[in-house]
Amino acid sequence: MPTIYDTDAIDELRSRLGVQPHRMKLFRNALFKNAGSWDEALVQLPEHARDEFSNRITVECLELIERHDSDVDVASKLIFQTHDQHLVESVVLRPKTGRTSICISSQVGCACYCSFCATGMMGFTRNLTVSEILDQVTQANRMLKPEKRSIRNVVFMGMGEPLLNLKNVFEAVTFLKVAPFFNLSGTRITVSTVGIPQAMAQFAETFPDVNLALSLHSARQEVREKLMPQAKKYPLEQLRETLVDASRNGKVMIEYLMLSGVNDREEDLRALEDYLRGIPVHINIIPFNEYAGSNLHGTPELERKQFASRLKQAGFDTTLRYSLGSDIAAACGQLVQHRRKEIVP
Ligand code: SF4
Repeated sequence: MPTIYDTDAIDELRSRLGVQPHRMKLFRNALFKNAGSWDEALVQLPEHARDEFSNRITVECLELIERHDSDVDVASKLIFQTHDQHLVESVVLRPKTGRTSICISSQVGCACYCSFCATGMMGFTRNLTVSEILDQVTQANRMLKPEKRSIRNVVFMGMGEPLLNLKNVFEAVTFLKVAPFFNLSGTRITVSTVGIPQAMAQFAETFPDVNLALSLHSARQEVREKLMPQAKKYPLEQLRETLVDASRNGKVMIEYLMLSGVNDREEDLRALEDYLRGIPVHINIIPFNEYAGSNLHGTPELERKQFASRLKQAGFDTTLRYSLGSDIAAACGQLVQHRRKEIVP
């Protein structure tokens, strides 16, 4: 059955039922701009069309089955179930000084097997559809409505490698940008990748105004290969060329997860500086949320701060990310993994 994001099917239904375009605009505004319920949207349509829309259009493609609100900060983790019983997660962040953001998933599981990632341990099941990707944002907006908030930033940094689900992610980004759907400026959307050069180039060409983030985590090939098996396919040298091209659209975000004794030594710092020198980037130093099943440990806060401050002294635009939601296992894939273990011990 078509979904509310299936514009061709909805237009066909609208024209068959003789619904005026302005009524469709009101209908979509109710759903997306005002984060209304299905009933609130339906009353914007002529009475004779309401039953047909209800019977022929799927409203929610994901079922929200769990919500975990952090006791220590303002993060909420949402676990959704797909129609074929898979679990995916999204994290809503309400930073004090920033706009409400959501980190969304693009796949069920992931084929990249990064050693620091709980999702990577699950393996890959399937790509999320465009509707499943967008539904995470729609449902989060509905959840936030009583708080008089709405999603202002969307980050593709949840479960899955977005650039391995290229077609659906490109379509979802287009929906996120346009009215009458989400109407977000490209600068409010970030797509994060492990670094797949051809797809990064395609992304930078198609969406020059949308932020690109690269999960670098090490500028030493041997270390990066251990952390991220995809690095064997796409060596740092090749990645650097793509990075230089992509940064012509604006600064690329470099994600650097700090792991004790792995990528936080003097030689790692020097390699990072050498690798990024001359490229317009913003480096984001990220703490590691430890989880059962991983033998990696995060670099202590003081050392992270020192690492960041050395990068700043070297002239790099650098921020330290504060880890929101550590009490609700907010890092990618952790909660779904807990839940799967409960179902299949
Ligand atoms: S970090 Fe991202 S790309 Fe790597 S395994 Fe996890 S979800 Fe996949």
